[in-house]
Amino acid sequence: MLRVAVVGSGPSGCYTAQNLVQRDTRVLVDVLDRLPCPYGLVRYGVAPDHEKIKSLQGNLRTVLEDDRVRFLGGIRVGGPGGPGVARLRELYHAVVYCVGAATDRHLGIPGEDLPGSWSATEFVSWYSAHPDAADAGFVRDVRSAVVIGVGNVAVDVTRMLSRGRAELSPTDMPQDALAALAASRVSEVVMVGRRGPSQARFTTKELRELGALPGTGIDLDPAELAMDPAYSDPSGLPGPQRRNLEVLRGWAARESGETERRIALRFFLRPVELLAGGGRVAAVRFERTAPDGHGGVTGTGRFETVEAQLVLRSVGYRGVPLAGLPFDAQSGTVPNERGRVLRAGVPSEGEYVAGWIKRGPTGVIGTNRPCAKETVESLLADAPALLRREVPRDPVAVLRAEGSEPVEWPGWRAIERAEAELGTRLGRHVVKLADWDSLLAAARTAAP
Ligand code: NAP
Repeated sequence: MLRVAVVGSGPSGCYTAQNLVQRDTRVLVDVLDRLPCPYGLVRYGVAPDHEKIKSLQGNLRTVLEDDRVRFLGGIRVGGPGGPGVARLRELYHAVVYCVGAATDRHLGIPGEDLPGSWSATEFVSWYSAHPDAADAGFVRDVRSAVVIGVGNVAVDVTRMLSRGRAELSPTDMPQDALAALAASRVSEVVMVGRRGPSQARFTTKELRELGALPGTGIDLDPAELAMDPAYSDPSGLPGPQRRNLEVLRGWAARESGETERRIALRFFLRPVELLAGGGRVAAVRFERTAPDGHGGVTGTGRFETVEAQLVLRSVGYRGVPLAGLPFDAQSGTVPNERGRVLRAGVPSEGEYVAGWIKRGPTGVIGTNRPCAKETVESLLADAPALLRREVPRDPVAVLRAEGSEPVEWPGWRAIERAEAELGTRLGRHVVKLADWDSLLAAARTAAP
């Protein structure tokens, strides 16, 4: 049997495992994750109110419950107490790294580290109950927020800031985050793009949701939209961008009545500095940009300041190096050829990548399917050579002997039960456990 370790149990890891067992009946897969919970960004990134996308967990669950797949949570590959990259390579015929893009990009402007300025990832992790996330008092004393960037994550955080208790309560968000967001007095969220509306990265379905939020109106400046040449003549645009402009045009033409909350969509403004007031962020200074005729923008030397007590930069994720694996700092990915890890430009035997760490943080969940398929094709083509090496019969016994304490599937199911029980106690549906102690305590209640 070919023994494969997949590191990371998010969509790319699960699709890799699925592909492996479906294509070859002589493969056994261990899916390792540093968290005791599976599903990666589907659990800790997809917004809690996006129930339909979250329901993908059902598909990923089927993969992890396959007879030839094992989930091993709580194993920190390349980190304290966990196996290193070289050791893992000894324990399995092949290792596929599906570790995603674990951090966020920075703006590199003054004031970025002021209290009240956070990455969207930190905010998302908090309301998604990631056990490493801290409650930074994100919305405390905040009346207006600025979200920098116009991708789908920016839309997610803008929407979450604009939702009320009635809409948040049915989600699985942790009780503390629900209480804080429900009590928040954020009445204005300004989402800002440095380029024009036709270059925004959000998708139309996500954009439309902003216009359907109860008690929330949308503000657009028709003159600002018209700075984008494609706004008046969208005929040359691809369908998704054209549809985005149609939505924006519809909103711009709409009478906007009085609402409890407002979302302003601004364009052609690039952040140059976060300004302080009272020891925290108080405003963002932007430079007005103008289209350069080639899809980019240039500065105009004119500036505008937007007040905000909360600034979320939502300018993309970024891969982080894993000790022992090669890393291209420029792209934030592991150098690879069709998923085969390249060391000094040469494919390294038995080491593979899939997902964001392979191709960068772009695309929707489904993009990981063809990406995983390509990697698995490479791996299975290499299988005859990989099988020549002897590996332990039971790598888990070795991992345990070397100090790892894996949370296996029954442990995860016990966490799920604890989250359902917590939800019942709170009069809600499932409510996520948000800290390491509660997760591990719940996992330990699993029958051995
Ligand atoms: P993204 O789509 O790459 O968007 C990043 C945004 O940040 C862009 O508007 C970009 O503008 C802007 N930006 C980058 N650097 C900047 C700077 N220095 N100053 C100002 N703006 C800057 O990234 P994302 O929103 O993090 O999403 C990551 C991936 O996850 C995407 O593929 C997304 O579709 C996916 N996702 C999907 C969903 C969903 O399907 N519901 C939800 C969340 C995420 P420029 O274009 O000018 O660079």
